[in-house]
Amino acid sequence: MTDYNNADDAPASLDFDTLAVRAGTQRSHHGEHSEALYLTSSFVFNNAAEAARRFCGEEEGMIYSRFTNPTVDMLQVRLAALEGGEACVATATGMAAILATCMGLLKSGDHIIASRGLFGSTQTFFNAYMAKFGVETTFVSATDLAEYEAAVRPTTKLVFVETPSNPLTQLVDIAAVSAIARKAGAWLAVDNCFCTPALQKPLELGADLVIHSATKYLDGQGRVMGGAVVGSKAMLEEVYKFLRTAGPSISPFNAWVILKGVETLRIRMEAQSASALAVAQWLEAQPAVERVFYPGLPSHPQHALALKQQKSGGAIVAFEVKGEGREGAWRVVDSTRMLSITANLGDTRSTITHPATTTHGRITAEARAAAGIRDNLLRLAIGLESVEDIKADLARGLK
Ligand SMILES: *Cc1c(COP(=O)(O)O)cnc(C)c1O
Repeated sequence: MTDYNNADDAPASLDFDTLAVRAGTQRSHHGEHSEALYLTSSFVFNNAAEAARRFCGEEEGMIYSRFTNPTVDMLQVRLAALEGGEACVATATGMAAILATCMGLLKSGDHIIASRGLFGSTQTFFNAYMAKFGVETTFVSATDLAEYEAAVRPTTKLVFVETPSNPLTQLVDIAAVSAIARKAGAWLAVDNCFCTPALQKPLELGADLVIHSATKYLDGQGRVMGGAVVGSKAMLEEVYKFLRTAGPSISPFNAWVILKGVETLRIRMEAQSASALAVAQWLEAQPAVERVFYPGLPSHPQHALALKQQKSGGAIVAFEVKGEGREGAWRVVDSTRMLSITANLGDTRSTITHPATTTHGRITAEARAAAGIRDNLLRLAIGLESVEDIKADLARGLK
C-alpha cells in the first residue's frame, strides 16, 4: 500500500497520457484490472498492537476514510503525477481544497493577494470568512503586475490566482507573478480548474500550489463533486493535517469516478478546446456579435501569453451581443434548443450562461461594471457535441 500522498511510484519519465491512465494504480490480491472502489468508512487491524502502531504513525496503513482510503490514494497519486507535484490531497469539493489550503497554511494576521475575478465562492470565502479569522485579502487586477507588487505587505503569505479568469478569460502571467511572490516570501497558488494539467502546468511555471475543482474537467462529465491541492510534500502535510482533523474529505466513490474521468482528460480538453476555437472564430464573424473573449484568438489582448503559458485556449468562450442591454443576450439564451442553460462548466455537454444575472447577479452594478461584466455578455463552456450543431443553436438567437 502506498502512502496517502506518495507519488514516488509514478515514474516521472512516463508521458502525461500514460500517467493519466496508470499512475497511482494499486492492485489488491485479486488482481483487478480497473481500480477498485473501496467503499468503507474504516479499516480493521489484526490485533491491538497493530491498531496502536497505526494510530501513533509507527506503521503505515489505513485507519479511517476521513484520513486515508486506497481509492482516494490512487486519485491523489495520479493528480500529483499529472501536475508534476510531489504530493496531492484530494478534497470533497473545489472549495474544500481552498479551505484546507488556507486553514492548513495560514494563521491570523497573515495577508493574501488575490487576482480580481476569482470564482465567486472563493471571493466570498476570502472576504467573509478568512477576514473573520484575521486574514485580510487585497484584490488586484489579474493582468497588472505593478498592482501585485504594490499590494505586498510584510505579512503577505499567499498569492492566489485563477487563470484564465471566468468569464472574461483574462490571463495571469504565472511565471511573472511567481517571481513577485517569491521576492515577497509568499506562496503562489494557482486555481488550474479551467486549463487542467492537460493544457497548463503551473508548478513548472513557478507556482507552489495548484488548486482544483475536480467537479469540472477532471471528472469531465458533470457527475460528482471533488477537489484537490497539489504541491510539495512539506506544504501538503499541513493541508492534510487540517483535512484529516476537520473532515472535508472526498468520498471514495467520487474519487473513483474522477480517477476514471482523468483517463480521458487530455483527449477531452484538446477536443473541447479545438471546438471552442472554432466557435470563437465563427462568433467573431457574426454581425450581431460585438466582441469575443477567447485566449486562442489573435484579437485577445494576451494572445502571446496564452501561446507561451497554455497548450491551447481552453473550452470557455465569452462574447458580447450587439446592443447594450441584456435583451439581445437573453434572446440568444432563450433561442437555444440544445445548449444547457446552466452556470456549470467542464462537462461534455456545452453550457450557456448570462453572467450579469446569474454568477455575477448578486454583486452591485458598480462592481459588475468594474469587473467588465456587461449586460450583453454571455459565457459558453464548449463540450463535445458537433461544432456545427453548437453554431446552429447559437445562430438562431443571433439573427
Ligand atoms: C467551480 C469552481 C471552484 C469551486 O469548486 P467546487 O467543486 O464547486 O467547490 C473553484 N474554482 C473555480 C475556477 C471553479 O470553476
